[in-house]
Parts: sequence; C-alpha cells; structure tokens
Amino acid sequence: MNFNTALLHDGVDKNEKYGSTLTPIYQTSAFYRQSAEELAGIFSNKTPGYCYTRVANPTIANFENRINRLEGGIGSVATASGMAAIFNALTNILQSGDEIVSSASLYGGTIDLFRDLEAFGIKTNYVENNNFEQIEASINDNTKLIFAETIGNPCLDVTDVDRLAEIAHAHGIPLIIDNTVATAFLIKVLEHGADIVINSTSKYINGSSNAIGGILTDGGKFKWTAEKYPVLKDYIKFGPFAYLARLRAGLQRNAGAVMAPQTAYLNSIGLETLGLRMERQCFNAASLAEYLEEKYPSVKVNYPGLKSSRWHKTGEKILKGGYGAIVTIRVGSREKAFELLNCLEIAYRLSNIGDTKTLVLHPSSTISLHSTEKQKEDAGVFEDLIRISVGIEDIEDLKNDFDRAFEKIGIKRL
Ligand code: PLP
Repeated sequence: MNFNTALLHDGVDKNEKYGSTLTPIYQTSAFYRQSAEELAGIFSNKTPGYCYTRVANPTIANFENRINRLEGGIGSVATASGMAAIFNALTNILQSGDEIVSSASLYGGTIDLFRDLEAFGIKTNYVENNNFEQIEASINDNTKLIFAETIGNPCLDVTDVDRLAEIAHAHGIPLIIDNTVATAFLIKVLEHGADIVINSTSKYINGSSNAIGGILTDGGKFKWTAEKYPVLKDYIKFGPFAYLARLRAGLQRNAGAVMAPQTAYLNSIGLETLGLRMERQCFNAASLAEYLEEKYPSVKVNYPGLKSSRWHKTGEKILKGGYGAIVTIRVGSREKAFELLNCLEIAYRLSNIGDTKTLVLHPSSTISLHSTEKQKEDAGVFEDLIRISVGIEDIEDLKNDFDRAFEKIGIKRL
C-alpha cells in the first residue's frame, strides 16, 4: 500500500466486535475478568488480555499498532505527551554516570529535560548538528546514545540521519531521533538507520491541537548488550525486543505517563489525513517562504526548501515530498517581532505546531524561555525570530495576512 492508503487501512482492526471502522474508545481504568486465575495470568504476562489502562488498553494498543506499521518498527509505545516519550526513550536505557551526545538544535522543552536529567547523574554533551568531527570527538565510553531532531524546532536544520546512524553504530550506540517536525510523511527515519523514533503526536499526527500525546517506535535492529546497558540485563533474553520489554514492564507502567484512550482515538482520526495535510502544508510553507523572501528583502527567511537555506542540500538528500511546514523569519528586533505577531489576523498566536491552522510564535520568550543565551543561539533562537507553523488555509489569504501586518509595522514590500 502507498502512504495515504496505508494510513487508512494498515493496522486498522477490521474484526472489531461491532464493525466499527475505528477502534472505539475503551474509556475504562480497569478491565473485569471472568476469574481470579485469568487476572493473575494477565498480570504475569502468561495470558493475553487487558487488566488496567496504565498497563494496556485496546484503543491505545490499536493506535500504537498503526504507528508501528507506519514507521516500520517492531513495536510502539504511546505516552501522555511528546516529552514523556522522550523521557521514557532515554531513561529506559540510561543510568547515573551515562552521557548523551545530542544536536544542540533542539526544541526548548527537550533542552530543559536534559538539564533535569543532570540531577540523576546523566550528562548531555551538545554538538553542532551535522558537524560529524565534533560528534565523533564528543563520544566517550560513557556515551550511551546519540539524539537529534530530523528537522530542528525552530532552527529548521536538517539532520543527515544516515550519516549520524553510521557514526552511532560504529561506536556501538543507538541513534534516537525526534521526528515530530518532519513526520513519517517526509522521512521514515528507521529506514535511514535510526534505532528509535519519537513523535510528539500533539503536532502533525493529531493535526487539530485537540490532545497532547507522544509515541516512540523501536526499529528492532540495535543489538543491546548487558555490558553496555546494565539496566537491560534481565531483558536481553528477549533479543530485539529487549528495549520494548523493559519499557513495557518498567518505566511505562511505573512512571505511568500513558496516553489516554480518548487521545488515542483522536490521534487515530488525525492520522488518517496526515499525508493530505502534510502535502498541503508543505506546499503552503514553500509558497509563503518563497513569497516572503522575494518581496521582503529586509526580512531573513529560513526554510529548508529554499535554495538559500544552509540545510537545503541535506533536505534534498533525505526528505521526500517536501521540506516541512515550518518557516521562520527574522524581522530585526524583538519589538518588531511582537508588533508583527500582534498585527496578524489569520495566523493564531499560540505555542504549538502541526495544526491545520497557521500558528505563529516568538520562540525566545516562550518555548526557549528557560534556555541560556548560548543554548538559544545554538538552537537557532534569536530575539527577532518568529516561527510560523503553516496550516492548510488558502495560500493567498496567508500571503495577504503577512502583507497587511508588514505594512502596519512599516516593513517595506518590493
Ligand atoms: N519534540 C518536538 C520537536 C516538539 O516541538 C515538541 C513540542 O513542541 C515536543 C517534542 C514535545 O511534545 P509535547 O508537547 O507533546 O510534550
């Protein structure tokens, strides 16, 4: 099946009890069983079935299955948020004394999380994305994984996932990729060598900003060893499933940051139009970026699809079907950025990406608020930067909205 057909059919439960075309919302905390023996069997993983939604739930399981099929993995685990997916993905294999090598160009919340991990003895060494010499030099015996975003939010740098995977594997460590901004529509990173792929489902997968969620998918190719990853020692017997087995039996249920059944249902609806929306949003983003670059020479436009972007070539190499739906612009000062945000009438001022509607934000005072000046600079966050998450509106209306706002704040159009 091709991409859009697969979104509608692959992993959909066609044997649903009453013929519902979407797995219904099993809005229950716990599941009644016929006997104490059955319940005991489920708890000890000897009998298939459901016992408690923090452990597993049919609506969530179906959503996990659909994402797993989409990403081409051996299993997916859905979480309460994208942040929970990142936290679980990393801490499932890390212990005190371990180190992460990460691209410095990250979503601000992830930088905050990496700082939180320091209290548990886990250190992050930031590197310039795609600076492979620096990446090699930052890996030491304590390094247990490499982390990057395929398209950095909001830097919009494109990671050479294949090259990064080669480096990670040459050092016997996995590559964990946050593919939230690119989505499986533009790239299936497991096919490019990544070992674990993370998506904040709150963005493009859901598509309508109606539920916070996250999901991680294991490619199943990484060879886990107890020597390198002592926390996995009881699970190595599961071979390629060692990582997922520990996550399911441990952190996922014990930390309890699980996806809600209602969220899984909303995400399953959103997922079906991911391809259609991404196609339109990438087209709109490219049109808007080209327009703003051509008409407003005093505004710096950043979009990986533009030939002027430093990351255009890498994007051309690894992305298929577009360059993403986020554009950033620099307008000269923080004051001008705020003025522009306040003058836009169609674009919504709010902190999210991946909605059907166009969303605009000043990253420095919001998502990167807690980052240091250096972290902001390395993540491509400047005081005069505005992030535009381009929606599915008619492109002429978006261009007009920016024209009107630029005119009001005195930025000249050619
Ligand atoms: N990863 C990226 C690239 C993001 O942009 C975000 C949120 O903006 C997250 C992860 C966190 O996702 P959530 O808000 O679902 O926790």
